[in-house]
Amino acid sequence: MEHQTSRLPGLLGKLGQMTSIRDTELLEQSLLRTLGPLLGVLDTSLYRVDERYGFTRATYCHRSKVLEGAAVERVVERIEQVLNPGHIDADVLAVTDNVRLLAKPCTKRLAKGAASEFLIAYPLFAANEIVGFFVFLRDREVSPSEDTMIRGVLEVFSNYYALLDVSQRDRLTGLLNRQALESSFERIWAALERHGIHLPDDGERRTPPSNNYWLAVIDIDRFKSINDTYGHMVGDEILLLASRLMENTFRSNDLLYRYGGEEFVAIITAENDAIAHNVFERVRLAVEAHSFPRVETLTISIGYAQVSAEVLPVEVLSRADRCLYQAKQDGRNRIYEYGQLLRAGIFQEVVCAEPEFF
Ligand code: GH3
Ligand code: MG
Ligand code: MG
Repeated sequence: MEHQTSRLPGLLGKLGQMTSIRDTELLEQSLLRTLGPLLGVLDTSLYRVDERYGFTRATYCHRSKVLEGAAVERVVERIEQVLNPGHIDADVLAVTDNVRLLAKPCTKRLAKGAASEFLIAYPLFAANEIVGFFVFLRDREVSPSEDTMIRGVLEVFSNYYALLDVSQRDRLTGLLNRQALESSFERIWAALERHGIHLPDDGERRTPPSNNYWLAVIDIDRFKSINDTYGHMVGDEILLLASRLMENTFRSNDLLYRYGGEEFVAIITAENDAIAHNVFERVRLAVEAHSFPRVETLTISIGYAQVSAEVLPVEVLSRADRCLYQAKQDGRNRIYEYGQLLRAGIFQEVVCAEPEFF
């Protein structure tokens, strides 16, 4: 449906043109130019990483003071951009590794003769994932007020960045796309596995609330008839509105992806099934209650299943999808959960003794 975007009016089309690699590079440079002087440091760096924590890009901003005449100092700036940097300083690797593990700023003290220097790294987030690091070297640690300032600047930066990061975004709705979903799978399953290993051996595999993930497949009901009755342009507009509405109704930490045409995937955290159900029910109600142009009512059906380290992403997706199919069968505009349908005897549990690979 990519060709549909060319017909989109105004803002969306412009956003599409604006989003080039060049724009993200300029944004990175202006971040370094802003923070360096505020922190009183000459050198600042920004690293971008991919989902497997490979360094994809490094931007270095070197500022140096040049004496002009007797006592006039001028600051000269030099920006260096390195694509796929093969060599990253060992101290930078160490400190950013900690940032990645702890998901918060970290400092490494470097002995420098009698004095010491501090290598300080802040994470850059996009849709709850760490996508990079802001790094600088200084003779003292960050004060609380500086910390607030850096976090504020990085947050504004990340918001702009998210707008520019086209590779992870669907062009029509601006939601995360299928590629982003795959990255999230890797990240979430890796976190679940790590968690399993670090659990105290109390005989019980308890997971803290924040680590209970639920995956939903959401599909708009009878969407084809909207296209057939009003045409694709109206269909697109309604798709866009429905996306925005869902995005605004989910909580800020929930992740919403456009999976395909009028199908979406949501990954949320919730302590138990009842809370997960409430979250999805709020979204279902919001769509049902909204007054869309042309069409009187629009509804969605939702199937969802719990995520666990032992069940492969593709199987969780398939469980949620089977629930969605059942919701459609039973009249649409409803929500089914996998465990619920298992208990009701509608689904049989498939027990795999050994996972078979090829
Ligand atoms: P139900 O899901 O309730 O069973 O019915 P449906 O009519 O929504 O089901 P189906 O999945 O068969 O049809 C989905 C339709 O969505 C097919 C296609 O015309 C439309 N569609 C998919 N992607 C887009 C898009 O990007 N823009 C527009 N306008 N329509 C789209
Ligand atoms: Mg549909
Ligand atoms: Mg569909």
